Amino acid sequence: MKTILIGEYREGKMLDATYELFGFARQLGGETVMFLVGDETVLPAYDGTLYLAEAVQCGEYNPELHKKLLLETVQKENPDNIVFIHSSYGWDLAPRVAAALKVAQVSEIVDIIDGGFEVGCCNAKMRRTVTPATSRAVLTIQTGAFPAVQPGGTPAVIKISSDSDGSLTFVGYEPADKKDVDLAKADIIVSAGRGVGKKDNIAIIQALATALGGELGASRPVVDAGWVPHNQQVGTTGQTVSPKLYIACGISGAIQHVAGMKKADFTLAINKDRDAPIGEFADVLVIADVMQFVPALTAKIAQ
Ligand SMILES: Cc1cc2nc3c(=O)[nH]c(=O)nc-3n(C[C@H](O)[C@H](O)[C@H](O)COP(=O)(O)OP(=O)(O)OC[C@H]3O[C@@H](n4cnc5c(N)ncnc54)[C@H](O)[C@@H]3O)c2cc1C
Repeated sequence: MKTILIGEYREGKMLDATYELFGFARQLGGETVMFLVGDETVLPAYDGTLYLAEAVQCGEYNPELHKKLLLETVQKENPDNIVFIHSSYGWDLAPRVAAALKVAQVSEIVDIIDGGFEVGCCNAKMRRTVTPATSRAVLTIQTGAFPAVQPGGTPAVIKISSDSDGSLTFVGYEPADKKDVDLAKADIIVSAGRGVGKKDNIAIIQALATALGGELGASRPVVDAGWVPHNQQVGTTGQTVSPKLYIACGISGAIQHVAGMKKADFTLAINKDRDAPIGEFADVLVIADVMQFVPALTAKIAQ
C-alpha cells in the first residue's frame, strides 16, 4: 500500500499537524511519499521522497494550482491513499482532488479500526467506522486524533512546478480580529461548555477567569449560541491554545475541542459525569455541578 501525505506550510513554518500525518501513516502501514507546497529551507524531518513546489511561485494557497500539481504527483506515484490534514487547506483541496480522480473521500478520520476509518457522526456525538467504496481514496485526518511523529532524516526532494498560474492569485492571510482577548498568549484559560446551561451563567465562569488573572474561553456550542464571541472558541475551528492552566467547565471533551487545548501544561475539568471523555485528558477531573463548584472556587481564591 502506498500513501501520499499532504504536508502543510504556512508563513515560513511547517504546520505542527503535518507530523500527525506521519502518526496516521504509521498506524495505517505501508509506504509513504510526501507532497508539499512550501519552502526548500523549511522541510519536515522525513526520510522519504518529497514532491516540493515552491510556495513563492505557486502561492501558499491556490486550490486550482495545487490540485493540478498534486494530480500530476498522483499520476507518477499511483498511490492507494491521498491524506490531508482536516484543516481549512485540506477540507478545501481534498474534495477537489477526490472529484477529479473520481474516488471516494473519507473526512475527519479519528482512528483506524480493523482497516476501516472511524469518523464522527451526529455532530461528533457518535462515531462510525467506514471503508471507502473505491480502491483509491482521499482522506482527511482530524487534528489531534493521531500522535505527532517525527520520522527523522532528510527528504529526497523532487521539485515540481507549473508553467501556468491558473486564474487565482494568493494574496495573503488576514489575522483574525483578536479584540481584547488573545487566548493564544494566555497563561490561564477558564472555558465554558454547554454544561454551564445558559448565557447568564457565563458571568460565573468569567468571574473565575478574572480571579485567576486568566481569560475566558469556550467550546463551540457556547459560541454558536452567541454566549461568547467566536475569537474565544477553543478547538479545531477556533483557537489552538497552550496555557499553563486550562479549566474546562461543563465541557465533554470532544476531539474537536481537545485538539485545541491538549497542549495545556495542566488541565482541570469540572463535569458532573464521571465518564465524560475530558477525564481522559484532564490532570484532575472534579465530579461536580459546575454551577456549585465554580462559585465556591472563585470565593476561595478571593479569600
Ligand atoms: C467540523 C466540526 C468542528 C468542530 N469544532 C469545534 C471546536 O473548534 N471547538 C469545540 O469546542 N467544538 C467543536 N466542535 C463540536 C464538538 O464536536 C462538540 O460538539 C463540542 O465540543 C461539545 O461542546 P461541549 O463539551 O461544551 O458540549 P457537550 O458535548 O454537550 O458537553 C457538555 C458537558 O457538560 C456536562 N455537564 C452538563 N451539565 C453540567 C453541570 N451542571 N455541571 C457540570 N457538568 C455538566 C455534561 O456531562 C457534558 O459532559 C466541532 C464539531 C465539528 C463537527
